[in-house]
Amino acid sequence: MRKALVIGNWKMNGRQNANEALLNALTAGYDNKLERVDVALCPPSVYLAQAQSLLQAGSIELGAQNVCADVEGAFTGEVSAGMLAEFGCRWVVIGHSERRSLYGEADAQVAEKAKRVLDAGMTPVVCVGETLDERESGLALQRVQSQLRAVLEEVPVEHLAELVVAYEPVWAIGTGLTATPEQAQEVHRALRDTLAAQQVELDEKVRILYGGSVNAANADALFAQPDIDGGLIGGASLKADDFLAICRAAA
Ligand code: PEP
Repeated sequence: MRKALVIGNWKMNGRQNANEALLNALTAGYDNKLERVDVALCPPSVYLAQAQSLLQAGSIELGAQNVCADVEGAFTGEVSAGMLAEFGCRWVVIGHSERRSLYGEADAQVAEKAKRVLDAGMTPVVCVGETLDERESGLALQRVQSQLRAVLEEVPVEHLAELVVAYEPVWAIGTGLTATPEQAQEVHRALRDTLAAQQVELDEKVRILYGGSVNAANADALFAQPDIDGGLIGGASLKADDFLAICRAAA
């Protein structure tokens, strides 16, 4: 049985005062029912220390939105996996479509990042997703399966079951458009086929999240799908009530 997982991606949003209010509201609203779900937040890395201290000893975990593909050295502006681990991160989002489209991240780089994250004892959350053009050309499954395979082929076999995958159709991220539960389920099933082809029973072990305009109103129907294990939440993770409602939908 795979435990549900909901991760909030704050993207480049937040200020210390607003973060404090949001983190306190999340902590106050966290209840026993949510123990059935792994819940994590990915603030901008400059706020990890603040979030770490405000979430101290609580049940909401920390993650990061990105990581450098190198271990250390002359990489101005980058943050390493070792640094993220020092601030209590358990999860690291890699290959988000905004990283791929705005910063030119290719599959090979995403695979390198996955290895750095695992080496530092954290869990990579590997994002895959097709563009609208790819979907309309009937290439959605092919696209996401090749993005996933690029990572699976590079990660040491003994670590494969630790991966988390996030299916995030590019056309649904931050647009208010959501994949229907059936569309999402079809892709999640195809991703499980790719996992199974890589290693026996890997499809049963790896959690696959859906992301793309998930909100308190549509979360129930998405999370009711058999192959959807939770969500990667952007905009709605900035509002405590909405984010908690989404987490409850996954419980
Ligand atoms: C995301 O940033 O990963 C995301 C899914 O954003 P949103 O929920 O705002 O579409």
